[in-house]
Amino acid sequence: MRRILRVLFLSLLLTCPACQRGRMFRSRFTMNVRCPVCGIVFERGAGEFSGGMAINTVATSSVAVTGAALAFFTDMPVWPLIAVLTLLSIVFAIWFYRHARALWAGILYLTGSIRED
Ligand SMILES: [Zn+2]
Repeated sequence: MRRILRVLFLSLLLTCPACQRGRMFRSRFTMNVRCPVCGIVFERGAGEFSGGMAINTVATSSVAVTGAALAFFTDMPVWPLIAVLTLLSIVFAIWFYRHARALWAGILYLTGSIRED
């Protein structure tokens, strides 16, 4: 259990889950193909980034659900709330993009899909 939490935490920090030192991204939106320290491949298949996109979608949707709860349980005006939540969802999805892809890479590492060659 501690290993799982450690790998997921390292992934959220954009750090290689295998060597715990290499950076997973070389720029804001570009993931390294291989870890610059240990050389493992972060996403082996062409479609493996879709898992990260799914994580990002669920996390961003939780922002919208929180907003819906605010609208339902409080007396906040709806249209300003919708505008703020729309902006917040867009900013959150862009900010969380790298973390979602890294988290998916960490899950792939935990399941053995990413391994040291
Ligand atoms: Zn590494």
